[in-house]
Amino acid sequence: MTDAYETSLSARDIKDKIRALGADLVGIADGAAMDAHPPDPARPRRPGDISDHDAGRVIVIAKRLNAGTTRIARWDERHKYYNDELAISALEDVALEAVLWLEDNGHPALIVPPTHVDPWGYDGDPQKHQGALLSLPHAAVEAGLGTLGLNLQLLTPEFGPRVVLSAILSSVPVEADGPMKDALCRGPACGRCLNACPGDVIGHWQRDWEGCDRYRSPHGFAQLTDFLTTIIEAGDPARQKAMLRSETSFNLWQSILRGSGVVTGCRRCQDVCPVGEDYERLLGDAAHDAHDDPARRRRLDDYAASEKDARLPDDYTAARRWIGALRYLDEQE
Ligand code: SF4
Ligand code: SF4
Repeated sequence: MTDAYETSLSARDIKDKIRALGADLVGIADGAAMDAHPPDPARPRRPGDISDHDAGRVIVIAKRLNAGTTRIARWDERHKYYNDELAISALEDVALEAVLWLEDNGHPALIVPPTHVDPWGYDGDPQKHQGALLSLPHAAVEAGLGTLGLNLQLLTPEFGPRVVLSAILSSVPVEADGPMKDALCRGPACGRCLNACPGDVIGHWQRDWEGCDRYRSPHGFAQLTDFLTTIIEAGDPARQKAMLRSETSFNLWQSILRGSGVVTGCRRCQDVCPVGEDYERLLGDAAHDAHDDPARRRRLDDYAASEKDARLPDDYTAARRWIGALRYLDEQE
């Protein structure tokens, strides 16, 4: 683009516009800093890999999830899947309007949605975790929106982890935000996410992503291929017909129709997290406590004890940039 076609915009102009379009949170990350710090160096997925020209800034936008569904305790509740899918759709509209507005002002831009997994990473095994083309929780940290929690979910001061994310790439020359220094997560002494997780897939600053996928995408590609394989292997036509008409089939069809249960699903770890101004105001009275599982509590106690002895796991060290400093350890002294 030549300067003659560009309107001069500030970071404030962009944030005000995107909030007016309907986003609840907006931050701007430096694309070069993200290129220099890929979350997974073995398989880097950087803004610069997506666009040679328009990845100078990564504008991360968030919409909050509604509290009414968070107050429902079941993880596999279709109202949750459906409401969350509507939040994603609304955020997609905001992102598209923001891109067109940036381009009206002479700044080419493109959207990196939360649901876009890397098709080149697929190797024929539907059970394998498919990473996104850009990790939006990490991008959100780079954009100053929050920090990562015990299970590497994004935590924001306003809504805790109860947000959906999207990102806009553009080389619009505005000031970038930077990561927060201190962790918002309260660590293993809290551990509510770990206690509540139906798959027990949360560890010490890590998560078994493949295990989690079965819950956070309960009617997704892996389940669809499993189901079709079972039908093929059933052999008997009457049985196959009954399976085609089953509730599983119905749920898969409904999910394909709208994406609810595919791009949305379990979010128990988000529901129970006490971080966020919204928690006391809208959720505290409905706080459905996690499993009372002594084995999990012992695990959390072990994690807390090792942190107190300054023995932090490699998973923390590798992700420290995005988790932040564990200031709660100073308070425990
Ligand atoms: S989304 Fe569900 S399964 Fe995955 S970590 Fe959170 S609580 Fe556990
Ligand atoms: S529930 Fe507790 S341990 Fe888990 S992310 Fe939130 S603050 Fe951290």
